[in-house]
Amino acid sequence: MLVIMETGVPPVQVQAVLDRLKEANLEGHLSAGAERIVIGAVGRVVDPEIRTAIGTMTGVESVIPISRPYKLAGREFKPRDTIIEVGGVRIGDGSFVVMAGPCSIESEEHMVTTARAVAAAGGHVLRGGAFKPRSSPYAFRGLGEEGLKHLAAARAESGLPVITEVMAVEDVELVARYADILQIGARNMQNFNLLDEVGCVPKPVMLKRALSGTIEEWLLAAEYIMARGNHEVILCERGIRTFETATRNTLDLAAIALVKDLSHLPIICDPSHGTGRWKLVQPMARAAVAVGADGLMVEVHPRPDHALSDGAQSLTFENFAAMVRSLSPVSEALNRRLAPQPPASRRDPSVV
Ligand code: PEP
Ligand code: MN
Repeated sequence: MLVIMETGVPPVQVQAVLDRLKEANLEGHLSAGAERIVIGAVGRVVDPEIRTAIGTMTGVESVIPISRPYKLAGREFKPRDTIIEVGGVRIGDGSFVVMAGPCSIESEEHMVTTARAVAAAGGHVLRGGAFKPRSSPYAFRGLGEEGLKHLAAARAESGLPVITEVMAVEDVELVARYADILQIGARNMQNFNLLDEVGCVPKPVMLKRALSGTIEEWLLAAEYIMARGNHEVILCERGIRTFETATRNTLDLAAIALVKDLSHLPIICDPSHGTGRWKLVQPMARAAVAVGADGLMVEVHPRPDHALSDGAQSLTFENFAAMVRSLSPVSEALNRRLAPQPPASRRDPSVV
């Protein structure tokens, strides 16, 4: 349920409501709007008695039930867009953000070279996988912590904040030490123990949609993270499994427009995994701007034909730069702009 406080209530009255909710085994999550404070009260069972009791407390204007199964992730709880600030980049403020990098981190040189190219072309966030979920156990599964070190070196060199996937509960602490944004991969969207764990980390989490995840299941997965106190969740549409096999997945652009309506969380589009073909990345990236995505995640590799994973969907540096340039006419037509890049002061001058 939502507890709408009167305008200008003193903090003690807000605290009294939070204490009363706790007594009733409910968790109170604050959303401070421009005008008033709203408390989202979530828990397994909301007793109608408690609803009435809260409604009579001083400073409470009204109490209303939340109709959707996801509570904190929905616009009922928070009508205004969530903006996530990471390493000098704002995600979700109406501007468009580009996350890019290789599927897998292969070496320090590979990562640093790619980071330079991503930054030079106008990218905002550097990606790279150190723990790779692969369909075959014989495929390259990532460099683990060594890879995370290469990613950190590339961040220092380029000044770009970094995002990387965490696959296991026991790796969350390690990955969070290196990453600016934690990525939950499609295959782990409903790994509820992992969602609980990243919900306790004070860093943004990008939650990819599962291969066969419905939009409701996806938002409920975001709810798991938020219910633990971490409200910095970014959603990522990366294509779903359908009967169509001509593309690797079917990129669900309608989901982006719908999620923008249902949720206040930022949403990123991944046309690389969404299509599996590098030639389709640019057109789908432009379409993502048009449908209102807050940004892109794309795979880039210095030599896609030598990539240890996902080469077929990876852009060369040149094609990546051309893709970024191609976004401008679409974003300008829609009165949007590419987000400013992170400040140069984030670059570590000791790195050459
Ligand atoms: C990835 O981003 O490299 C990845 C494995 O993505 P997904 O979880 O969407 O398949
Ligand atoms: Mn990949």
